[in-house]
Amino acid sequence: MSDKERRWKCGKCSQELVQQKVVFNYLGHTFSHDLPACPDCGQVFISKELAEGRIAELEEELEDK
Ligand SMILES: [Zn+2]
Repeated sequence: MSDKERRWKCGKCSQELVQQKVVFNYLGHTFSHDLPACPDCGQVFISKELAEGRIAELEEELEDK
């Protein structure tokens, strides 16, 4: 039951992560995404899905041009 509303915590601060708009700069391109980040130290947690999905998508976009 509780798995649905799983809360992530920062490993360092034990603070609950908050959704935050994060701007990335990758290969000279910027894009933003809402990601869980620690309100204390600012550490952003990028899921494997995002790293593999979104960045792969972006690479395809870049190859098209
Ligand atoms: Zn933290």
